Amino acid sequence: MVSSKFKEILLKLGVSQERIETLEMKGGIVEDEFDGIRYLRFKDSAGKLRRGTVIFNEREVILGFPHIKRVVNLEEGIRRAFKNREFYVEEKVDGYNVRVAKVNDKIVAITRGGFICPFTTERIADFVPEEFFKDNPNLILVGEMAGPESPYLVEGPPYVKEDIMFFLFDVQEKGTGKSLPVEERLKIAEEYGIPHVEVFGKFTRNDLGELYELIERLSREGREGIVMKSPDMKRIVKYVTPFANINDIRIGARVFYELPPGYFTSRISRLAFYIAEKRLKGESLRKLAEDLGMALLQPLVESILDVEQGEDIAEVFKIRVKKIETAYKMVTHFEKLGLNIEIVDIEELSNGMWRVTFKRVYSDATSEIRELIGGKAF
Ligand code: ATP
Repeated sequence: MVSSKFKEILLKLGVSQERIETLEMKGGIVEDEFDGIRYLRFKDSAGKLRRGTVIFNEREVILGFPHIKRVVNLEEGIRRAFKNREFYVEEKVDGYNVRVAKVNDKIVAITRGGFICPFTTERIADFVPEEFFKDNPNLILVGEMAGPESPYLVEGPPYVKEDIMFFLFDVQEKGTGKSLPVEERLKIAEEYGIPHVEVFGKFTRNDLGELYELIERLSREGREGIVMKSPDMKRIVKYVTPFANINDIRIGARVFYELPPGYFTSRISRLAFYIAEKRLKGESLRKLAEDLGMALLQPLVESILDVEQGEDIAEVFKIRVKKIETAYKMVTHFEKLGLNIEIVDIEELSNGMWRVTFKRVYSDATSEIRELIGGKAF
């Protein structure tokens, strides 16, 4: 049930009584709590209040992070998005999206789905100085948390060798969700020493050759892709490397039956557009085709063999926390997300932090394979 306090705020924000009732009935808005801070989370969109929007009170409204359109043909995608105008090219860092804001005197980190994440909220102080929010209480820092020790992703970018890091890529206003221009954001990152995604510079469509080379290099280095942004942040599109498409397929194939078929087909089609745009043939085409085939088949076959041996399909991951309590809060948080995750080990590190190992069991994938091995006909 959503309390009357939040319903009144929604009415003031222009959401009609009828809409509020429908949202509540369908579970599109959910009231939640973190460390005594109550908030309303949007699982569905309602007008400008996008999915992932979080409302704390009338003044503290943090809009959901918008969808970034994807181009699959780099040349035409750039032409349509930017015409002859300049755009910034930044790295698309492979991690999870967080919006960081100060609310009721506490700095909180909110995930894309609109949850305050206990782990990210605890660790964000390692990357973002409190000073920034003292000077700018009305701004939100948006960035990617990425690294090998992450609660939500199996892998991180190749240059984060341990633990996790925050990389800023957007600064937005509370209430409107309006982004600061790229240059202002870069100035903020510099002034406050906030780590930022790599910026490759300003380009126009005449620099296509250089951009193709950049994509090749990022792909070779095992990096995810690029995000192209007009200096005023009004036009934004993303493009991912062939490496990322194949790597996602490899990670997904391990838990094949947990994912919608679109997860695989969309990545295969992006790869096809890359091959077509670059006119790849002969050896380079064969190499990609082999990589794709192996990425799709090998992990799935391994899963089948594991289940045959009586094992569950499971994933083990680690995170570093300052207080053990944070790890337990994560277990409750995972439960809220409907995930079957438990703590299997806690180890004290020399710097006073704790490394916590979690195990996630994929029961749907395990039981589907078990039945198929057992001769299920369909
Ligand atoms: P959607 O399609 O709705 O954007 P998605 O999760 O499928 O959601 P992704 O393909 O992961 O989208 O790409 C968008 C995400 O990329 C952003 O939400 C953000 O977290 C991440 N990202 C990483 N680096 C950047 C960057 N430099 N600029 C913008 N977003 C970035």
